[in-house]
Amino acid sequence: MSDPTRLWIAIDGIDMEYEAWLLLRLFFKDDYFMFYPENESISGSVLFIKVKNEDIWQCKVEYYSHLEGYDVVRNLSSTRIQPDYSSSVTVSESEINQPGGRVLKSKKILAGALIVEVLSKVTGKQLPYGSLTGVRPVKLAMGCIRDGLSKEDTIKMLVKATAMNRDKAGLLSDVANAEIPYTKTDARSIHLYVGIPFCTSKCLYCSFTSYPTGVFKPLIPDYIKALEKEIRFVGQITKNKNLTVRSVYVGGGTPTSLDSYSLNRVLEILNETFHIKNIEFTVEAGRPDTITEEKLKILKNNDITRISINPQTMNAATLKTIGRNHTPGDISNKFLMAREMGFNNINMDIIAGLPNEDEEMFEYTLERIEEMAPDSLTVHTMAVKRASRLHENINSFQLTSDNVVEAMTEAARRSAEKMGMRPYYLYRQKNILANLENTGYAKPGLECIYNINSMEEFQTIIAMGAGAISKFVSHDGKKIERTYNVKEVAQYIERLDEMLERKKAFILR
Ligand code: SF4
Repeated sequence: MSDPTRLWIAIDGIDMEYEAWLLLRLFFKDDYFMFYPENESISGSVLFIKVKNEDIWQCKVEYYSHLEGYDVVRNLSSTRIQPDYSSSVTVSESEINQPGGRVLKSKKILAGALIVEVLSKVTGKQLPYGSLTGVRPVKLAMGCIRDGLSKEDTIKMLVKATAMNRDKAGLLSDVANAEIPYTKTDARSIHLYVGIPFCTSKCLYCSFTSYPTGVFKPLIPDYIKALEKEIRFVGQITKNKNLTVRSVYVGGGTPTSLDSYSLNRVLEILNETFHIKNIEFTVEAGRPDTITEEKLKILKNNDITRISINPQTMNAATLKTIGRNHTPGDISNKFLMAREMGFNNINMDIIAGLPNEDEEMFEYTLERIEEMAPDSLTVHTMAVKRASRLHENINSFQLTSDNVVEAMTEAARRSAEKMGMRPYYLYRQKNILANLENTGYAKPGLECIYNINSMEEFQTIIAMGAGAISKFVSHDGKKIERTYNVKEVAQYIERLDEMLERKKAFILR
């Protein structure tokens, strides 16, 4: 076991091996650190996480650059060896009971913050979100704001609990403030998601349920029939339960990659089945090469209120690299066409940190987007997803460095502000570059209610189609249960009845 090039991790008084591992891998390669082996001799650096669970909860994290021997960690307190770096926190019951104090309740987040503080000193690397590794960091800021804390006090509380930086804490506070009017727990309100799992080609970074139309064309008519069955089935039980649909989101995939007849059919069925007049109704028209005047008319005739045309980048070379068969010119032409046809709520998605892009190229994308002036902008940070072609061929691409990606997302924030938008939803993903986030910006009043609910989970989302994930929120808003439809198109068609029965049981609860 002796290996002087290792970092040994010793944890005492708290069960957080997994959470510690999630943080450690943001600082070091997986094979550099190892959890302290019982009854074995070690040699190397040691990170010691010590927790005392008494009336006042105490945690200390210490880093020793070199320790050696058998049982050395267990006997540290009886030696005079001093840590090279350390950090500690104490939290009392009364602090937790103060307004906003619930943020201090999670011992794992607090201990994680100390790990981040100590390892930042050791490595010089800063984590913008401190000890937060989850998908939905806005929930913490929301808790503070609901307790009546000001923006400044929310920032202080988040920084104290998680060791995140002040800018990110401020961003979370802004997003929570924008979301609050839309996040009411209401067991009678639901949102609908419909998945169209087809695209004209697969993007380099994609891990969504998306199959190429060229290959899957023969299955599309049967898919639409199965989807109709699912939509009508859900329509009947939600009607019997007297549930109100608040928003509809047709995504995928790229719904506009369907032929005009199939696209119209799906939207007609939705309109026939649910009372959805005058509510937010989004259709993703992500790829400009799938948009035609005829399809835009179909969207208009079916009362679509919001569409998304997604450049990802306005650089022709990058579009090729990521496997999209269209030009930057196609994006602006189709955007203009949609505007002329009266679409007054258009979102655009872009990605910071696309392979081979530098800051200048990203700024160019932002400038072109400012010229088009969409109503909302979703800024994704590049994430290397396991199921993507990018992950499979990672050695063929140059990933953008942390500081460049940070500068890109900052430039996007300024650009959104310039276009009169504010941040209104935010989430994070595994393996996201620079450990950053995806942020949705929108002009006030044009925030996507579906996106907010999908992230903050205040109301039930019933999702239909291959790979769709429904989320059922309990009456008090505290419990979220998920049901999954199978991903593969053929299996979805075959196993639909079984999925419907499962869904019915959840809706009728
Ligand atoms: S457009 Fe979206 S869903 Fe389709 S392949 Fe690209 S990333 Fe995947």
